[in-house]
Amino acid sequence: MPKFYHFLAPLALISAAGALASVANSAELTNRASEVEPELLPVAVARPVDVTFTDTLHAGETLSELLARTDLEADAATALLRELREFQDPRRLQSGAVVAWRKSLDSGLIRRVDFRLDADHTLNLLRDPDGWSGSVHEVEVTLDTVVVSGVVSSSLYNALVSDRSAGSTLEERNRLVDQLADRIFAWQIDFSRDLRSGDQFRVLYERVVRPDGTTRDIHVLGAQMNINRRDFEAYAFTAGSEKEDYFNREGDSLRRAFLRAPLQYRRISSAFSRSRFHPILQTARPHNGIDYAAATGTPVYAVGDGVIQRAGNGGSFGNLIEIGHSRGMMTRYAHLNGFAKGIRAGMAVKQGDLIGYVGMTGQATGPHLHFEFHRAGRPVDPGTIEDTNGDPIPRSYTAQFLERVQEYIVSLNDASRPVLAADARATAVMSGASD
Ligand SMILES: [Zn+2]
Repeated sequence: MPKFYHFLAPLALISAAGALASVANSAELTNRASEVEPELLPVAVARPVDVTFTDTLHAGETLSELLARTDLEADAATALLRELREFQDPRRLQSGAVVAWRKSLDSGLIRRVDFRLDADHTLNLLRDPDGWSGSVHEVEVTLDTVVVSGVVSSSLYNALVSDRSAGSTLEERNRLVDQLADRIFAWQIDFSRDLRSGDQFRVLYERVVRPDGTTRDIHVLGAQMNINRRDFEAYAFTAGSEKEDYFNREGDSLRRAFLRAPLQYRRISSAFSRSRFHPILQTARPHNGIDYAAATGTPVYAVGDGVIQRAGNGGSFGNLIEIGHSRGMMTRYAHLNGFAKGIRAGMAVKQGDLIGYVGMTGQATGPHLHFEFHRAGRPVDPGTIEDTNGDPIPRSYTAQFLERVQEYIVSLNDASRPVLAADARATAVMSGASD
């Protein structure tokens, strides 16, 4: 998402609440993909007669040119490139790519050459009397469990991402924001509009970290937020062969009939801004909806299952989509730049389906999505709709679920003060958080 990074420069100037990460516990080294030893650049102690060298591909340099520096004989280099091509086009190795080779001091022969193919994979080429044989290995990763907690001053994004001192990479925090906003709390919280200064959060998650410190993956185990004095919590659980889902501590699903926002949180401009609320776009007429400022072309998603009632020109609304939902609900998406492929009246859509793209058609002063939610013909605040839609924890898994949730809560409590009002009414006043 290169576009996203345009937003980062101004962020550095914005102060935000402190978020801190602490390692709750460290788990074992894991490397499920490869039973073989991890392979890149082991120090040459196994065979004292061998020495390992490393080099990097210079800008504008071909791999052949690099290999020429290794003293590898020309025909052996040709054979090596042939074997390499079985795994990757050598021209796709970019400048900076690390190449390591191991040379026998006895014979002067290069026995082995390793290429870092990408952040997660290494190609090892071993030399034998018949030539080279290659194999791909996954880099060794570590799994640890982390708690991040903090207080919101302007946005979840700023609170989680702007504090770089907290021991997790920016990319990792971006993923955390995405998971919280677009997945875990997508039905409960519109992070672009609901947050207030002083709101608190803490999140327990696992992360898979590469040797270079970058994060391959994160997995949220538990999250607690207090937003405008309301408690929200989510705990991951997989019941048997079901897909993993998130539940409150009673085991109720967090899924609802409607997503809180029709855009991904990080695509909403106000997600980044210091302003606490969505930006106000000047409108002359009475306003029955929510305006989300976002770049032209930002994907717009159906907030719930339904049938497209209208997809076409809506006058001052520009390109307009209306979706009819069950029980007299209707959602309206206006000023679209265009419609997603195949979208037309009469068509059934599912929650989360792509329906169109943000634009500024009709009467609009800038690119934004005008979104309305109607019940029985009257506009309503989508935040007021409570409509459960997911299955609770199956009874046969209740005990296992409750035990797991207790473990998560203990880990959260070990690393951070409680943030749920229900857990911490007495100590909330003592919060030292400031801005
Ligand atoms: Zn509007």
